[in-house]
Amino acid sequence: MREGKAFIFAAPSGSGKTTIVKHLLEQNPKLGFSISASTRDRRGRTEENGKDYYFLSKEEFKQKIDEDDFIEWEEVYEGNFYGTLKSEIQKIWDSGKHVVFDVDVKGALHLKQYFGDKALAVFVKVPSIEILKKRLMDRDTESPESLSRRIYKAEFEMSFEDKFDVTLLNEHLPESFAKAEKLVEDFVEKA
Ligand code: 5GP
Repeated sequence: MREGKAFIFAAPSGSGKTTIVKHLLEQNPKLGFSISASTRDRRGRTEENGKDYYFLSKEEFKQKIDEDDFIEWEEVYEGNFYGTLKSEIQKIWDSGKHVVFDVDVKGALHLKQYFGDKALAVFVKVPSIEILKKRLMDRDTESPESLSRRIYKAEFEMSFEDKFDVTLLNEHLPESFAKAEKLVEDFVEKA
């Protein structure tokens, strides 16, 4: 069995981690994205099934839990399940790439425990909770309820920063991209 490394990016929703992860995947051909399964609704204009997520019904998701298909799964938001599929990791490693995760904070800590020294857990941090709120509102993808749920959760998630291997402060995107690229390169080089 072939094994690569694992890069786990986690952060409160709205911190820009998905933008950073997408950048890394475009920039570095040695990285492959672990597409999660999710039961939430697809954001119609921007997301594709099998690219951003495998969008599943709750029944399909439960079946995968029963069949032990997940490394970790969680009800990230009430009624919405998200999970990392074992098959994704093997597929990416078999193709000779390192795997990149975009998950919530709890999921990230599970994955770090699972992969140990093979993984680098990166906490993407926003300068302040006000900026985070603004970013979420500007994104205009959330209902008022979903927005307040995400903000509540974000405040809680901020307290887990010290459990990560490294913090990436996301203030100016070009700098954040450069920092993320360097983190990946250095960790790939490491024996
Ligand atoms: P969104 O609905 O904004 O795409 O994602 C909501 C949160 O769930 C984000 O923090 C995202 O990173 C996280 N997430 C996505 N996939 C997974 C997964 O497989 N496991 C866990 N634990 N969280 C995930």
